[in-house]
Amino acid sequence: MAQQEDVFKKIVSHCKEYGFVFPSSDIYDGLGAVYDYGQNGVELKNNIKQYWWQSMVLLHENIVGIDAAIFMHPTTWKASGHVDAFNDPLIDNRDSKKRYRADVLIEDQLAKYDEKIQKEVEKARKRFGDAFDEQQFRTTNARVLEHQQRRDALHERFSKALNDNNLEELRQIILDEEIVCPISGTRNWTEVRQFNLMFKTEVGSTAEGASTIYLRPETAQGIFVNYLNVQKTGRMKLPFGIAQIGKAFRNEIVARQFIFRMREFEQMEMQFFVKPGTELEWFQRWKQTRMAWHQALGFGAENYRFHDHDKLAHYANAATDIEFHMPFGFKEVEGIHSRTNFDLSQHAKYSGKKIEYFDPEENASYTPYVIETSIGVDRMFLSVMCHSYCEEQLPGGDTRVVLRLPAALAPVKLAVFPLTKKDGLPEKAQEIIRDLRFHFNCKYEEKDQIGKRYRRMDAIGCPYCVTVDQQTLEDDTVTLRDRDTMEQRRVPIADLRAIIEDKVSITSLLRKIE
Ligand code: ATP
Repeated sequence: MAQQEDVFKKIVSHCKEYGFVFPSSDIYDGLGAVYDYGQNGVELKNNIKQYWWQSMVLLHENIVGIDAAIFMHPTTWKASGHVDAFNDPLIDNRDSKKRYRADVLIEDQLAKYDEKIQKEVEKARKRFGDAFDEQQFRTTNARVLEHQQRRDALHERFSKALNDNNLEELRQIILDEEIVCPISGTRNWTEVRQFNLMFKTEVGSTAEGASTIYLRPETAQGIFVNYLNVQKTGRMKLPFGIAQIGKAFRNEIVARQFIFRMREFEQMEMQFFVKPGTELEWFQRWKQTRMAWHQALGFGAENYRFHDHDKLAHYANAATDIEFHMPFGFKEVEGIHSRTNFDLSQHAKYSGKKIEYFDPEENASYTPYVIETSIGVDRMFLSVMCHSYCEEQLPGGDTRVVLRLPAALAPVKLAVFPLTKKDGLPEKAQEIIRDLRFHFNCKYEEKDQIGKRYRRMDAIGCPYCVTVDQQTLEDDTVTLRDRDTMEQRRVPIADLRAIIEDKVSITSLLRKIE
């Protein structure tokens, strides 16, 4: 675990050193849980967004996009339930004065039981070698069974407390499980309190009578309030979806784990409107579709899992998370929720407008049901970074840090180096870039020896480098070097586009999930 934390620290500093992610307002020592994306980060982030957007809007004839404003009429948040119920249960440790989410403390405790069980399994696997039967061991080993029993009991108690909104019980669980504050190491806990996560601000001057509005805590409501506009003007027929990418804001109590939990972040959400009664079938379909989108990146199926919600929101009839194996455990990257007709009905009630769909086949009107897929751009960015970061031992005793980014997501696709700064080599290198820059992102580098330039490109995950030398001037060929294999081969300049373009395009990913 300590080793994993080290790796995570290295990833965070790598992000800063190579222009991916900076703390916000860095010269003023940053602002808690707010980050800026640098010159390479913004390219990677844009590629993630493009991959998502195109998979939704290009690959589905019945999904269209919108871009709603961040500010919304304040009644929106009354109707959606956020004013009254968008709360986190928080608890303070009196000795360290640190604040925690009570539910997260308990979830971490559950993960500890899982770790203990896993350790027993690994120990036994070593001991028994090929003869090891994991299934049998898990169901018969006394120590594993004891951990499992305690875990299941805790899980049941925790789910019930969440569902009953029983804050006293959440505190009692923390006490009974003897959970200590990671900073002070003590169990001197306060009561558990509810804390609303929405940021408030005011619109208009006080003289005119300013009114309180909120920074949206999710992009979804911008879609719901536009349901009628899009359905009518787009003449959309059920089932259909509306996709949106945009900023969301939450006053998170605990700012932890870099860009995993931010106060200002970006979401990619799609609300899929369906006929009532078909929603669970669509829920299953979207689970598979979204998992395929993640897995097309090639990070390995074993690094993903579904995690069904312990606490269903009162309006939801199914909900699951897609979790990714981060250096700090399996963590939610995306939520898939079956939200019934709750949101549209609430907006109909609060606005007084009829928000329905006329179904020509049924010759009847009804409020559609909704399946939502909601993924955080920043969490996705983090999972891509964590999986791609790699410290490699090279044959000659050298080491290198390489970001094995999927080529389609890499910020720079091709770096072009003149071997030396003279004899017309820089001009020839620039000529190659001038031609290829229309097709993908290219970068020119002439400083330092070629070896150092390769390392710099490895560190930002650039999949291809090209070196221009004397021979290039004679026969228009260059050395093409592959980031992952480090293999070099001589290719004609005229072939570069054909070799590289398909591998680095978003289309190459989309084809895998079509
Ligand atoms: P968590 O339980 O981690 O607080 P959540 O269940 O509240 O997350 P949702 O409301 O389902 O999250 O939001 C959908 C997605 O938005 C999440 O899967 C995550 O990727 C992203 N997200 C939510 N909160 C944050 C945040 N504070 N910082 C970065 N991304 C976030």
